Amino acid sequence: MRAEGTFRAFEEAAADPALAGKVRRALDRSLAKMAAHLPLGPERDALRDRARAVRMDVLDRLPALIEEFTKKVEAAGGRVFHAQDSARARERILSILKEEKARVVVKSKSMTTEEIGLNSFLEAEGLEVVETDLGELIVQLRRERPSHITAPALHLSVEDIARTFRDQLGIPPPEGLSLEGPPSPEEVRKRAARELSLAARRHLAGRFLEGDVGITGANFLVASSGSVVIVENENNARLCTSLPRRQVVLAGVEKLLPSESALGVLLPLLTATATGQPAAGVVNLLTPRFTPMDVVLLDNGRMDLLGNEEFRDVLACIRCGGCMNICPVYRHAGGHPYGGAYAGPIGAVLRPLLEGMEKAGELPFASSLCGACAEICPVRIPLDRHLLRLRAPAPHGLAERAGFRAWAFAAKRPALFRLAAALWRKLPFLADLLPPGRAWKKGRELPPPPKESFETWWERKKKEEGHGRPGA
Ligand code: SF4
Repeated sequence: MRAEGTFRAFEEAAADPALAGKVRRALDRSLAKMAAHLPLGPERDALRDRARAVRMDVLDRLPALIEEFTKKVEAAGGRVFHAQDSARARERILSILKEEKARVVVKSKSMTTEEIGLNSFLEAEGLEVVETDLGELIVQLRRERPSHITAPALHLSVEDIARTFRDQLGIPPPEGLSLEGPPSPEEVRKRAARELSLAARRHLAGRFLEGDVGITGANFLVASSGSVVIVENENNARLCTSLPRRQVVLAGVEKLLPSESALGVLLPLLTATATGQPAAGVVNLLTPRFTPMDVVLLDNGRMDLLGNEEFRDVLACIRCGGCMNICPVYRHAGGHPYGGAYAGPIGAVLRPLLEGMEKAGELPFASSLCGACAEICPVRIPLDRHLLRLRAPAPHGLAERAGFRAWAFAAKRPALFRLAAALWRKLPFLADLLPPGRAWKKGRELPPPPKESFETWWERKKKEEGHGRPGA
């Protein structure tokens, strides 16, 4: 069952070495920068402990913080709408746009708008939605989903982007950049990347002025001041929130923080883990005092999750994308095979919890359970353990169960285990003949058996190296 659907998408993506190369190159750059600014060690662990404590404290008093935030925004002249689900959030945003007689909406990057499928909904209602973050603009032009929470177009090369701009915006490819055949020299590609981002800016400059309403997400919401915190590098969120005549913020309820002081703990970890930057390019703290503002607080299953003692810490996530950067599955396949707004290990945990196992129950199986995601997570969410727990209720076929029972029986009897292992080493095709073996191999690759057992290898190495422990 698990080999179907989701796994086929992963297999197809993993079979494309060019895609894996592009994804890995982008992620390696982020990880290298992160290692430079946030080295492993007790200092980083202490920071992560503090960040987790801040976020878990938020979860302990979330309803009170939501109430405080709502009062503060309303006192400053804004409006807050509590949307129980995606449909209500979309309808509320549409009604605000109708109030404003809006025709063009300018948007900054927001995964929560992806979660509720806002763009296609608004377009079906006749509105024009202009993504103003460079990565989001690129994927919008290609009619694709973002591939990564913080880097939506990381699965694309500079050549892919040049082709997209040429075909969709009529922007000629940068001089000297080869779009067919062998790639251009690295310095030409770097110059081309700069030129393409400038061309995108020129294209967007006029669009900002046409925007009737700006729609943004939020990195955090501050209860004590009613501020909306948006972290960015391109200044597009600032323009989206200051040029149009009204601003709409869509944010999950879990984005609350008690006060601005929590930002001192979370922001450095967020930027260092997300993009390897010691600090964000721009941190916007916005209140309705400057631009008329509507905040739509999205529940969509979050408050139910809050009451789930086993999994509630998933709501502590600060959407840094670090778990994607390091995940071996994500690094091979990118974000699209996950099939929803949230990809990588956090998506594989969060989506089954919010959307239900029927819809997203295959995702926890898209993991090697190596634990790298939990090691990098700045708020110490034990993603690997959550993935394992979410796998537990999945049904196993008769043959698979028989296989596991046989393995458990043999594992408790060393002589039988040795005999079975020796048989497999000599006759590996047995796995294809026996039904449990066939069931196991459906959708999985069984590596070729080693030439010798671990015990034999150990004894041989000891003799070869002439002391008690190989490699010591
Ligand atoms: S789970 Fe942790 S590492 Fe992954 S996006 Fe959330 S905060 Fe970042």
